[in-house]
Amino acid sequence: MKILVLNCGSSSIKYQLFNMEDESVLARGILERIGLEDSVLEHTYGEEEIEIEKGIPDHNEGIQIVIDTLLDKDHGVLENMDEITAVGHRIVHGGEKFASSTVITDEVIKQIEAVSDLAPLHNPPNLTGIEVCSKLMPDTPQVGVFDTAFHQSMPARAFIYALPYEYYEEYGLRRYGFHGTSHKYVSAKAAEFLDRPLEELKIITCHLGNGASVAAVDGGKSIDTSMGLTPLEGLVMGTRSGDIDPAIIRFLMEKEDLTIEEIDDILNKESGLLGVSGISNDSRDVNEAAARGNKRAQIARNLFNYRVKKYIGAYMAAMGGADVIVFTAGIGENAPDVREDIMDGFEYMNIHIDKEANNVRGKETEISTPDSAIKVLVIPTNEELVIARETQELL
Ligand code: AMP
Repeated sequence: MKILVLNCGSSSIKYQLFNMEDESVLARGILERIGLEDSVLEHTYGEEEIEIEKGIPDHNEGIQIVIDTLLDKDHGVLENMDEITAVGHRIVHGGEKFASSTVITDEVIKQIEAVSDLAPLHNPPNLTGIEVCSKLMPDTPQVGVFDTAFHQSMPARAFIYALPYEYYEEYGLRRYGFHGTSHKYVSAKAAEFLDRPLEELKIITCHLGNGASVAAVDGGKSIDTSMGLTPLEGLVMGTRSGDIDPAIIRFLMEKEDLTIEEIDDILNKESGLLGVSGISNDSRDVNEAAARGNKRAQIARNLFNYRVKKYIGAYMAAMGGADVIVFTAGIGENAPDVREDIMDGFEYMNIHIDKEANNVRGKETEISTPDSAIKVLVIPTNEELVIARETQELL
């Protein structure tokens, strides 16, 4: 069985084709700059990689070129399109309607549309991807896997904002949480790694990438997470502010004569590591500059790490302790110094990091000492594989 996983963004399409017999990736790639004249498709198959530059006006042609490339006689991996048994789509926002993945039907499409104003940048291109696949391969089943679904188990005390309750009832204004596929995957992997039942474990999962969130996973269920109505809340991120005092919005609008759209851009695109350091949204650049003595980079780095530490402490309190802390995603998997700094100061709780074991990148490893009261693990995430597996299961 071959499953195509699609992640359709507003101007990009990421894809992976899985052979589910052994869960190997037959091909993967990313098409970027859709809608511009210099769209570019990077396609990897086996050890080979090719780049195709060609104006791609819309997602229709975008998905078509992905399929054509998968079928290409020189660098394709399929003989014909029917070999694709199903398509799994990453859908960012499922609102309260979806607590698990689902087979796409007309009714499901309507329900995704109904929550699209909660994720206006993400859900419409996700839906376009579904629509185009329905046209190009009408007989191939499609499955939607939601970033929000895993966090639907959060209790009201974790998801209700202390705003007039009518806004929740009327608009669904509440905390949803994101990166659910990743938090679910790494928490299950952590249980497997430790050879203990997931149901018995209290796990704090730290997904630290360009977007970043922490989740409290109690017995395999998310009971709290740092992102909220949108992926803006919580941790300091590459370009996102994370938690701020909401009064700042009015203050800045008045002082700088800004519109609400400009404020939105500042909070989402000009803040976080980039805004504080003035150097980059990439944590490697910021950490390098900090190591060279750049003051603002040092503040940005410390702010990022401190915020993660605070959420870890909060989620220990929320769960009445923790058994495992997991680091994942670009920074979590690859930055030993960030992990060490975040875990520095937890010694009073008998949590100890083994510096040598922690000197690891992108590999499933235990980085705590054998006598540490809480296990600290690095677990590489794999959201695409989860989407492929859930698609297969639903078939
Ligand atoms: P993601 O969004 O999960 O792809 O993660 C992107 C982030 O991971 C960026 O801030 C990168 O700087 C960071 N990252 C990727 N590789 C490394 C590395 N080898 N060391 C430190 N940070 C890294």
